[in-house]
Amino acid sequence: MSEIVLAKYGEIALKGLNKNTFEDVLVRNIRRRISKYGKFEYKKAQSTLYISPKNDDCDMDSVMEALQKVFGIAKLCRAKGFDKDFEAISTKGIDYVAEALENANTFKVASKRADKKFPMKSPEICRELGGVILDRFPHLEVDVNNPDVIVTVEIREEQAFVHATNIDGAGGIPVGSSGRAMLLLSGGIDSPVAGYMMAKRGVAISAIHFESPPYTSERARMKVEKLASIMANYCGRINFYCVPFTEIQEQIKNNCDEEYFTIIMRRLMMEIAQRICEKQDIPSLVTGESIGQVASQTMYAMVCTDNACRMPVFRPVIGMDKREIVEISRKIDTFETSIEPYEDCCTVFTPKHPRTKPVLEEVINAQNKFDFEELIAKAVEETTAHYIDANK
Ligand code: ATP
Ligand code: MG
Repeated sequence: MSEIVLAKYGEIALKGLNKNTFEDVLVRNIRRRISKYGKFEYKKAQSTLYISPKNDDCDMDSVMEALQKVFGIAKLCRAKGFDKDFEAISTKGIDYVAEALENANTFKVASKRADKKFPMKSPEICRELGGVILDRFPHLEVDVNNPDVIVTVEIREEQAFVHATNIDGAGGIPVGSSGRAMLLLSGGIDSPVAGYMMAKRGVAISAIHFESPPYTSERARMKVEKLASIMANYCGRINFYCVPFTEIQEQIKNNCDEEYFTIIMRRLMMEIAQRICEKQDIPSLVTGESIGQVASQTMYAMVCTDNACRMPVFRPVIGMDKREIVEISRKIDTFETSIEPYEDCCTVFTPKHPRTKPVLEEVINAQNKFDFEELIAKAVEETTAHYIDANK
């Protein structure tokens, strides 16, 4: 009998009557993520999902790695099933966790008896198995409060499962259980983190990127697509929209006051993103803005940007320091890609002295010096879309 994985729910366990819906979304997401590693069977019981391979050649290491990035899972255990008798559990079961015990100094045994017909009660299983382990590994000591290893025995209807791993899952709630949002994805550090944080709360992510060839290169776009594929390990497959933005930027430069370039550009990005959202039935936007980080992210600048928005804009990193954002980007593996030095359309026509306290009325007047409507419609028309899958 090969190993199985026990995925323990986080918040889903508390969802009451809606629990089934969340569970179904979680199972669907897990299926999508691990189907490339083999065929699996899924069983739900007591806020745990039992994932059993149907054949022996499933790549369980990759499965464990992928599952650590699936939102909705609090803990992951890799376990093995044994016959439901104490003899099998205390010999073959302990063989299975021997390596973890050899490398530990302290341990405890935990037992869950779902099958009440099993002749020993949980405290007895713990006591007896603890004795067997101490005899076999004399270097160990029992520590019930803070052990290095917890050997867990779960007596279920079908089998007794034994495990000694208890790995943290990604937490959060399953992607797709909180609607969808459009992430404005640049090649920087902040926006991938913003997308990750929304996905963690169950929001499915589409991404939109603005490029300005020839000022921005093919390589710059490939870098952003790579970021999307790293994010997809957490968010699931991402629908990626790419907007040709060159003409709009050139007309901003030719017609509008220099000190307002960036803010007008951001307003037009929001306008285009919203039009695509409206076509795709996506109700909200997400950006990687953090207050005060740069001139276009002062309170006054954001008031001017938001004035161009008719749908909610979520900014999950708004109150975070760069250091904190970097820490998450390292954790989710986007950092090294984000710092690759490619140009972004934002940096193409940056004004020398951007206004940090723009006045909304002046911004609108500056923007109205050119009628962008035709170019906006053209950019929306020429936007391309394709799906980006997880890179692992
Ligand atoms: P990031 O690290 O995400 O690039 P940033 O600190 O560089 O952010 P800005 O360049 O001012 O900040 O961009 C603010 C936000 O605007 C980004 O987080 C992103 O959501 C969006 N954005 C910027 N440039 C682009 C782009 N070329 N395509 C799509 N969205 C963009
Ligand atoms: Mg940027």
